[in-house]
Amino acid sequence: MKKLKIITWILLLLNCAVCFADDIKPGTKPKIIFREDWGARPALSDISQYKYDGKQSPTKIVLHNTALGAKSGKDAVKEIQNFHMDNDHWSDIGYNFLIDYSGTIYEGRYLYYVPSHAGQTKEANGTHDLTKDPDYNTIGIAFLGSSDQPWSAAQEQSAIQLINYFLTVYPKIEKIMTHAEVRQDILSSGLTPVGDFDSNICPGSATAKNIKTIKDCIIWSLRNKT
Ligand SMILES: [Zn+2]
Repeated sequence: MKKLKIITWILLLLNCAVCFADDIKPGTKPKIIFREDWGARPALSDISQYKYDGKQSPTKIVLHNTALGAKSGKDAVKEIQNFHMDNDHWSDIGYNFLIDYSGTIYEGRYLYYVPSHAGQTKEANGTHDLTKDPDYNTIGIAFLGSSDQPWSAAQEQSAIQLINYFLTVYPKIEKIMTHAEVRQDILSSGLTPVGDFDSNICPGSATAKNIKTIKDCIIWSLRNKT
């Protein structure tokens, strides 16, 4: 019994070390590669329909896995933007931020537009009411990876730093969710999701430990220190 207690304490201490390792400073703005620096294509003009009426006020952060492999670098981010614009025919890349396998953070869709990452609802599409869109007032963060592989430690650390920074600037953020959890939320709130979704795919069960670490290292008290 005593041995178990000691092991628990060691694990707790190790967990703290994970949260504050190296240059992770709670609440400070992490280095972000902005659109112009990774060579993003300009969004199509019809993105204007997704502009928030007033200032955006994110309440949720949604975590995703991309499906194009555990890659790093600007070209990998461009590949995702091209896929969203050319294959999916979206106005721009869907995610607000992307974290490559080496832990580098990239700016995706500008935060003043409703992003496109957690699906659609029949209600939002039918009435053009963006407030019924699951992406409304969310920040979508995508991890470059594949569904059967965990995220790297560098991705984990960058996500912790990025989310802790968001807590200092967006006081209404109250939840960190996975794409699969958003899907459940849509169903339980009486809205009708559009399209098929396999909850095992995004973010994928291999990332469960990463998500737990990220959630354990979120410093919710930071929202009072803007
Ligand atoms: Zn997803």
